Amino acid sequence: IVLLIQNKILDCLKEYNRAYYIEPSIGVCVIKDRRLSMGIIYDQASMAAKSCKHKFMSYIGYYDDNMTQQIYIEQEIMNEAQRALDEEQFVVYLQPKIRLSTEEPCGAEALVRWKHPKKGLISPGKFIPVFESNGFIGKLDYYMWEHTCMLLKKWCDNGWNPKPVSVNVSMANMYNPNLCDQLVDLVEKYELSPKLLQLELTESVFVNDPDMMIKKVESLQENGFTILMDDFGSGYSSLNTLKDIPVDILKLDMKFLSGEDDGGKGERILASVVRMASWLDLPVIVEGVETEIQKNFLNNIGCEFVQGFYFARPMPWEEYEEILKNPHSDAESNMENSEAREVVEAIWNTNPELDRLFDSVDNPVAVLEYANRNVYPLRANEAFERCFGSSITKQGVLNYKKSIPEQYVRRIFRTLDECAQKKKISYCEYFRIQDNGAGKWHRLKVQYVRKTPDGFIILAYFGDITEEKTLEQEVHRYKVFTDEKMSSHMGLLVVDDDEVTRAIMTETFKNQFDVICADNGKSALEILENNEKDIAVILLDMEMPVMNGQEFLEYKNANADIADIPVIVISSDSNQHLQVNMLDQGVNDYITKPFVPEIVERRVYNVLEFRTPFK
Ligand code: C2E
Ligand code: CA
Ligand code: CA
Repeated sequence: IVLLIQNKILDCLKEYNRAYYIEPSIGVCVIKDRRLSMGIIYDQASMAAKSCKHKFMSYIGYYDDNMTQQIYIEQEIMNEAQRALDEEQFVVYLQPKIRLSTEEPCGAEALVRWKHPKKGLISPGKFIPVFESNGFIGKLDYYMWEHTCMLLKKWCDNGWNPKPVSVNVSMANMYNPNLCDQLVDLVEKYELSPKLLQLELTESVFVNDPDMMIKKVESLQENGFTILMDDFGSGYSSLNTLKDIPVDILKLDMKFLSGEDDGGKGERILASVVRMASWLDLPVIVEGVETEIQKNFLNNIGCEFVQGFYFARPMPWEEYEEILKNPHSDAESNMENSEAREVVEAIWNTNPELDRLFDSVDNPVAVLEYANRNVYPLRANEAFERCFGSSITKQGVLNYKKSIPEQYVRRIFRTLDECAQKKKISYCEYFRIQDNGAGKWHRLKVQYVRKTPDGFIILAYFGDITEEKTLEQEVHRYKVFTDEKMSSHMGLLVVDDDEVTRAIMTETFKNQFDVICADNGKSALEILENNEKDIAVILLDMEMPVMNGQEFLEYKNANADIADIPVIVISSDSNQHLQVNMLDQGVNDYITKPFVPEIVERRVYNVLEFRTPFK
């Protein structure tokens, strides 16, 4: 029954699903105890409904007693919270932030831990969501800010020249009308520069009431605070958001951006975000760095600041102080570049309609940065991913070297250069070998967008012209073939001591070639060297008096003027070794006697066709 209801609801919702994605949440509570009041049963059903929120394709939640249990746990946390705050059971842990180039700390993030007298150390994941749900988080945040200020003050007084420490500002606090005053009062109270207390906000802050939030953030900045956008890329964000939101540092989390099975797509996105942020002079911190591989990757893509278990776990402030006592180089600088912001906005525009347009194109389309002879796809559609997926390195560089022959690479660069210099649309055609080994022809159309600090932004469209091109080649081949068939200017030299063979060849080829005959290698060489006639092909016997085929070949190959003329050996020796040997010596084909004239004819055309360069 529940499933029937669900499907009915889903069917109704489909009508609306074009612009918004609406999902139902259905809570089911089976009534076992009829004495329970309606109110309690309703509560249980709505708890069950909540449990399927944020679960993919799961619309029905069933009530079970653990849910009530969870409510009790949360209640217990809340009962103890105020007392814990009063008794200073919450402690500041600090996780260093590292400058990658020197691998030295350049600051830290303050993270809360609850040192519970009975339950031991509790991680924030257990209590922060509870505090967020009822606003208590506001108090905890303030507590953390103040304790962080106290530490900073102590370090300054000790002359340790502390680096900035960032604190988290929860969503609830963004609605606190006194937020800015509270923070200003704090740094004044502890005689600190506001530069030392950085503020981490998540972008979700800007979803509901962006105008109000932007004003708030701006007033914080005016008072000297540095704003970090935490968990950038976790959901709502795009670089587009940054156009409107005043933010000083971007914080990306590895876990949001690098999936295991996405073929490196996450890394490529990370690389292009870091690249674009660098145009804005917007420092990026990547957090959640756990492995050396990740570290090296971040180094490669030019990421400057990192935070993660690989370098250091969050630690009690006492431990952090030990690190602090050794002085290090300075913290990040930050400039603004409003023009670049517009570009980034344009490229990273997540306008869904534009996205759909981008992705509805069957052929690859991409916004590329062309800089220092490298091509970086900054944004690309699905077809582009399909087409170039594995040839884009994790660093976000297009690795064309494997798949595009050298001459076409040069052609592409010429087109890009032309496009960049003349600021106009340019085209070229090029050939590419796909992962599966098959070849593909593309017509590349590139359009200049604008300059970047290192190079140019270019919009590229990759048409697939493989079919056209194959057809064109067929036609060309056919044309060459028939042209040659028609032209009687070319000479065909038959070198054979057997008169019958000479006669057959003459008969076979007389309509297409001027057939010239020689009965041994020596007189054939004389004919060639006297250059009586342009010889297109030589048909060569092996056993001959005066000079045999083998000797003839040696002389011929030694003479640069005639070395290139193709040779087809026609011999009664069917020894395979000899055949291979001959082919190794540059002979173009080998036919054994007795031969069928038609076969010889075909082989001659094959050799000629093969030698005709295609345009
Ligand atoms: P967050 O602000 O994104 O903090 C980063 C979290 O990532 C921290 O978890 C940190 O311990 C963890 N982390 C750091 N490096 C790595 C790594 O290499 N790998 C992995 N897997 N994790 C890493 P933590 O301390 O458990 O905090 C979780 C969240 O709780 C924080 O996420 C933040 O949203 C919230 N939180 C923590 N302290 C405070 C606070 O004082 N105030 C507020 N409002 N929220 C806080
Ligand atoms: Ca944070
Ligand atoms: Ca974070």
